[in-house]
Amino acid sequence: MLSPCFRTVKTMKKRIGFTGIIAALWGAALLCGPLLRPTDSCAGQSEAALTPSPVSRPAADSPSGTMRIYMIDVGQGDSALVIFPDNRTMLIDAGERESAPHIIDLLKRLGIRTLDFLVASHGHPDHTGGFARLIAEGYTGSSTTAYSWSNREWDGITWHRVKPGDVLHVSAGATVTCYAIGSRVVGGAYVVPERNINARSMVLNIKYRGFDYLSGGDLTGSGNHPNVEDPVGDALARAGVEIDVYKVHHHGSRYSSNLYFLRKIMPEFAMISMGDDNPFGHPTRAVLKRLNDPGVHVTRIFQTESGDGATAPNVTVAHGQIVVTTDGVTYRFAGEGPGSTPFSYGPYPVDEFAGSWPMFRRRNS
Ligand SMILES: [Zn+2]
Repeated sequence: MLSPCFRTVKTMKKRIGFTGIIAALWGAALLCGPLLRPTDSCAGQSEAALTPSPVSRPAADSPSGTMRIYMIDVGQGDSALVIFPDNRTMLIDAGERESAPHIIDLLKRLGIRTLDFLVASHGHPDHTGGFARLIAEGYTGSSTTAYSWSNREWDGITWHRVKPGDVLHVSAGATVTCYAIGSRVVGGAYVVPERNINARSMVLNIKYRGFDYLSGGDLTGSGNHPNVEDPVGDALARAGVEIDVYKVHHHGSRYSSNLYFLRKIMPEFAMISMGDDNPFGHPTRAVLKRLNDPGVHVTRIFQTESGDGATAPNVTVAHGQIVVTTDGVTYRFAGEGPGSTPFSYGPYPVDEFAGSWPMFRRRNS
């Protein structure tokens, strides 16, 4: 249960966001628009670089369309499947090589034969290991576009470089915006990554109407690791983005999810992917404590597995997939998959300040 104190803080945060005056909302929208598009400060980037491939199946764009995000249980690693409102699909990371069968099981159960977009957040095997088998088994094709940190041939397909500020317009109301890659952040900030590959992670804001999801691989920001999280938090705050669901960086490592960053993005919910048998103590007590800090206070933390670290009273373990479903006005969570713990939370309203115009109009109608 949330303490009354925490509830008050959360309510105040929402109230400030909601009653931040219509003029402020419009002002934010006007100011933020350019930030969500390539700017001069991100020279060389263009939306053309992220032009989606032609729709490979009947489009289903409609006001009642929903977007689903499956955080797939791949043990100690990351893999998330996004099904956009027009039914196109994006796989962000693919876990370790041994994870591919779990991903393929899910794709089969969902009847998905081709992935439209692949995203490799950074070059570690717990994020990229499963791609080879997916590609070998024909889950990519002429309609597939693959994105990573460089232009390269890899696992038999061409990967395209993504730059900070690139925007992918998937379908009406659904966009994917890159806020950081290679330790370079929208707005021009650059943090020397030293030899830290995690610090180079691709950070994506997936937006559908008023709903905002943040996926940043294993981005670093705490301890003696390069602090890329601070400028990413600043960039998101400048753009007026308040995150509804945050995919916790680096499986709950204490070297990520610093308090400054969390207070900038103000996530409503958090999801952590990690394995029961991980030797790293993920998720760490430090990160669960920061997520529950009175200045952040996520409502609930969902985990694919129990992990081998700390826990908190507001943690829910799926023992399988965590599925987020949103129509852009509200969103809900469910447990899914063989052997999973069934649960259902929601619906919750999207964060008001994040530009949920349909909800805003509905409240005034
Ligand atoms: Zn990782």
